[in-house]
Amino acid sequence: MILPKEVCKILDIRQGDYLTVKLKGTAILLEKEETRCVFCGNEKDLQKKYGEIICSSCLEKLIKAGFESDKK
Ligand SMILES: [Zn+2]
Repeated sequence: MILPKEVCKILDIRQGDYLTVKLKGTAILLEKEETRCVFCGNEKDLQKKYGEIICSSCLEKLIKAGFESDKK
């Protein structure tokens, strides 16, 4: 299956990304799966931080390294 380039660009879908397929009546819905840590690819203990999906261990490392920007 090939997705139009424009669609991939808008959703930031790259080759190898996982897409969730859902059925809605007779229509097929494709949803981009955001289930991996952007740093290590971990699929567990994920949370959204700084607009990215980050696992708790990477988040801890970031905070320890002084990247915590929530407290200003
Ligand atoms: Zn991680």
